[in-house]
Amino acid sequence: MEQRTATNLQPRLTKHFAELITNEHLAHAYIFAGPQGVGKEELALWIAKGRYCPNAQNGRPCLKCAECKRIAEGNQPDVVFVAPEGLSIKVDQIRFLKEEFSKSGVESNRKFFIIQDAEKMTTGAANSLLKFLEEPNGQITAILLTTAVNQLLPTIISRCQLVELPALTDEQLVASLEKDGISKEKALVLGRLTDSVQLAHTLAQDNTFEQLCQNTCRWYLQVLHNDWRCFVDVQSKILPLLSGKKDEQLFLDLLVLLTKDLLLLRYSQRKFSFTAFNQEFSEALQPFSTQKILEATELILETKKRIAVNVSFQNVIEALTLELCRCYHG
Ligand SMILES: [Zn+2]
Repeated sequence: MEQRTATNLQPRLTKHFAELITNEHLAHAYIFAGPQGVGKEELALWIAKGRYCPNAQNGRPCLKCAECKRIAEGNQPDVVFVAPEGLSIKVDQIRFLKEEFSKSGVESNRKFFIIQDAEKMTTGAANSLLKFLEEPNGQITAILLTTAVNQLLPTIISRCQLVELPALTDEQLVASLEKDGISKEKALVLGRLTDSVQLAHTLAQDNTFEQLCQNTCRWYLQVLHNDWRCFVDVQSKILPLLSGKKDEQLFLDLLVLLTKDLLLLRYSQRKFSFTAFNQEFSEALQPFSTQKILEATELILETKKRIAVNVSFQNVIEALTLELCRCYHG
């Protein structure tokens, strides 16, 4: 299976860092901030490989040589990876890092370290790291990875260059999920439904979610066909699949995705997310003007707002079903 790679996930930043490596302009310390799954770790390791790879071309590592492989496997003594032990990164872990780097046996005077979930450093660990960053011996590159830059000590932030990794586009996320082994059909829905790679993976394994997708599509088709069973099915086939606020939100997000897709389907601007229902929706939509589909979209977005206020979800969804039927069949 093809891996998620820095060049796929962050093409602009790999280009930028390749130039820095070539010109030896790499800074002393960086913070890579961005949501989970955007390729922070991949990018940091790619830069490490770029610095040590003997075959690097314009700062771009070959990814094939022994050196690149050692870094990928965590067996390059000059490249140290620190991750939380349990819930936090403890002061001993930073001390260990310092000791590793002060050993004379290490292979070069170029050192590289990556700290994962840097916001999880205890205050002790952060202060210890701070001293390390202030008195660098030899050439050290530090990269701190974080999903919550605001939780880092301001003193740490001020010692580092902050690089914010942009969120993946929907289509990049779809491609990335497929590379992780999620089927094309699921990846298409999940990549567009959520920004979180983690949530996408959880939902991909979840049979209830798959059921929810299918039942939501069938229910919406009933609405389009003016089939009275939509009022029954919303209660018997959708609501029982939702337990709690998160699920309810997820259902509305699905509905927003579906209704946006219906607009795009009309103009064939992108592949329909719910692949298996493509044909049925194309046919069911034929009698309706674009204006109707737009009005229905607004009803759904309006409902998403309303649900934020504390009202019974069942009432809201029943009201939505009625409004959608009125909208399409007036
Ligand atoms: Zn290499």
